Amino acid sequence: MEKVDHRHRHRERIAEVRAGTSAERVPYPIRIRQAEVRAVRPVGAGLVRVTLGGPGTKGFEAHAPDEHVKLIFPEPDGSLRLPEPNGLMLRWPRPAPTSREYTVRRYDPATGELDLDIALHEGGLGADWARTVQPGEPVHVAGPPGGRIVPHTFDRYLLAGDLTALPAIARWLEELPRTAKGWAFIEVADATEQIELAAPEGFEVRWLHRGALPPGTAGLLAPAVQQLSLPEGERIHVWVAGEAGEIKPLRRWVKELGLGKGEQDITGYWKRGEADFDEDHEHEHEHEHTAAGSEER
Ligand SMILES: Cc1cc2nc3c(=O)[nH]c(=O)nc-3n(C[C@H](O)[C@H](O)[C@H](O)COP(=O)(O)OP(=O)(O)OC[C@H]3O[C@@H](n4cnc5c(N)ncnc54)[C@H](O)[C@@H]3O)c2cc1C
Repeated sequence: MEKVDHRHRHRERIAEVRAGTSAERVPYPIRIRQAEVRAVRPVGAGLVRVTLGGPGTKGFEAHAPDEHVKLIFPEPDGSLRLPEPNGLMLRWPRPAPTSREYTVRRYDPATGELDLDIALHEGGLGADWARTVQPGEPVHVAGPPGGRIVPHTFDRYLLAGDLTALPAIARWLEELPRTAKGWAFIEVADATEQIELAAPEGFEVRWLHRGALPPGTAGLLAPAVQQLSLPEGERIHVWVAGEAGEIKPLRRWVKELGLGKGEQDITGYWKRGEADFDEDHEHEHEHEHTAAGSEER
């Protein structure tokens, strides 16, 4: 019997979804990699860009602007518990190892390097790591587990989020066709946290300044988005991420607009007062677990 190479099946699916009219999540083969920190530099006053490279990042795949990886950190006792490769998936130890999720800001297949832009804030394991990590240090990277592929055929795209969503928004704006139209709303403390964005001409970028208020408390994003008057008869795709409570009103809003699953994606990226918050936690582990048992995929 002819042997089928299952490793590239997701690429066909990605091409199909991209050519369609509705967004869909496509799982990729998941890998665990040991990478090396190549460079660390600030991106505006709020983010630190950690560039990862080395032999471990070879063959990394990037397909969607908001796909994420998990950085796996040593446990408090210094031990490192890593997931194990299992076919095209990973088998995760229980309880789950200490990890944090970050968007793949950029992957360069020519150099094999990938960038993560990490928001600085007080009292965070990941934020503290980004603040202090030095080039040459190793780090373990799992994923991405898949990506939500969004066709480029929508009339307009609405992007909204805080500093944690900015890496994905920046990538969205770079990767959309130059003819794309829409809006990007980004909440930051002040102008020092703003970064250069390669937005298509038909995009309106609005920075919302929260001033001295702590992140996740200003309530600026939802009202700004809700005040938009959306052009009648156009197909709109909405993507929102940020503090779970802050973006909650927008879930209702997209429902009222009648947007379906393939037209909107609203995700809590963190939650005030909760370490390692993961809205999709249950779902994602379910997926990884189920698929891990199957040699078919
Ligand atoms: C799919 C996905 C993609 C993401 N992409 C990015 C990304 O590209 N860049 C990025 O910076 N973050 C991103 N995040 C968010 C990031 O995973 C969380 O902010 C995470 O909690 C940070 O971990 P930490 O160890 O720094 O803080 P934790 O140890 O998880 O939390 C400690 C305390 O800090 C608070 N806290 C957490 N994050 C913030 C914050 N940003 N500002 C203020 N207080 C905070 C928590 O409420 C808690 O009280 C993403 C999340 C998801 C689910």
